[in-house]
Amino acid sequence: MADIEGQVKDEELDAEQQARRRLALGQIRQYPDAALRMTARPVESFDDDLRRLVERMKQLMVEANGIGLAATQVGVLQRFFVFQASEGETVALANPRIVERGEVTTVEDEGCLSIQGVLVPVERSALITIEGQDEHGAAVRYELEEPYSRVAQHEADHLDGVLILDRTTPEARREALASLRPRIVIG
Ligand SMILES: [Zn+2]
Repeated sequence: MADIEGQVKDEELDAEQQARRRLALGQIRQYPDAALRMTARPVESFDDDLRRLVERMKQLMVEANGIGLAATQVGVLQRFFVFQASEGETVALANPRIVERGEVTTVEDEGCLSIQGVLVPVERSALITIEGQDEHGAAVRYELEEPYSRVAQHEADHLDGVLILDRTTPEARREALASLRPRIVIG
């Protein structure tokens, strides 16, 4: 399987996949969009609208070559995300709560579908237990190890407006922000 860098898979794409990826990324809010900094509200209605949105987000995630996507990244301020919970299994998790963390943490480079071209080191718990609800409102619980634990922590952060830029070292943050600054072209 491809290397996983936080939210983004690192693999070679053919021309058609690249075109699909660009289209998908065009529908995902990009830094510094204000929605990425907002705190999402709890999901209260588990209705067809929510399930349609979950399906659309799963599709966007795959087309963008990602392994997780939070509602805030598509401008929906509700507490849910879709993510790869194990090889080949993409699930939706609403109102997530990390209820247990292992003592061990690891530092790996992470990317984000909303911050293209940036990879920064982020420290995360290697093992977590996360609880919440699926898209039908049923209680679910996942015991996750890397890399899936990292993805779930990344997505849960998105629901509180927290980005990898806030989780990395001051040096990596400075470098990332410098590379994100719009270039001024004269002439
Ligand atoms: Zn992200």
